[in-house]
Amino acid sequence: MPLRLVLLGAPGSGKGTLTTRLLKQIPHLTSISTGDLLRAEIQNSTPIGRLADAYIKEGKLLPDELMAGMVETELAKRKIIDKSFLLDGFPRTTSQALELERRLQDNSINLVVELDVPPDVIVGRIANRWMHSSGRVYNLEYNPPKVPFKDDVTGEPLFQRPDDNPETVRKRLKTYYEQLEPIKRFYQSRGVYDKVGGETSDIIFPQLYRLARSRLD
Ligand code: ATP
Ligand code: MG
Repeated sequence: MPLRLVLLGAPGSGKGTLTTRLLKQIPHLTSISTGDLLRAEIQNSTPIGRLADAYIKEGKLLPDELMAGMVETELAKRKIIDKSFLLDGFPRTTSQALELERRLQDNSINLVVELDVPPDVIVGRIANRWMHSSGRVYNLEYNPPKVPFKDDVTGEPLFQRPDDNPETVRKRLKTYYEQLEPIKRFYQSRGVYDKVGGETSDIIFPQLYRLARSRLD
């Protein structure tokens, strides 16, 4: 059976890192990260990119309709709507979850995993986070690049996300914890909700992998 997985986690909870590891273990899985899609739009100075830039800098969520449309387009473009896929960073609100459900029809989400990481761990991690324009993420402590401040694959310079400053991080965390309960209830009512936890992605990954496998078999 195809795996249609949503990763739900605070900023810096390891969604990107865990996605990369899951894709290595499950090669036919395709991932969509709305944060990465928006950053690509910003890079290309598209109209959506200009809008996204303003919202992201403020630590605010973009409109639900816009995000749902963007994910729908991406699923169609990659022809994976009836295949296995992983969504990182979407849906984040119940309204987005409903929009997604409507668009997926018979291919509804069959696993939602909440990544439960202590907030103080998260704040420390984000301060140490550097990234490459491809979306590859490094952590100066846990997962440093081979050459300081350079991407392992391309050798290009790494940068810190403009929304990873302490004030914006606080706002993003607040929004996340506000939205968590309602979206959790929504997916619990659909019988697909699960939760994994720990202070590092090494601890979380095996739990997540086990859940993902259980849907595929
Ligand atoms: P992380 O920092 O671990 O990547 P995050 O969830 O804070 O987690 P992104 O997913 O990269 O960060 O998203 C960055 C920003 O893009 C968000 O703060 C928000 O402004 C916007 N965004 C991304 N996904 C959505 C979404 N589903 N709905 C609304 N806004 C979104
Ligand atoms: Mg991310």
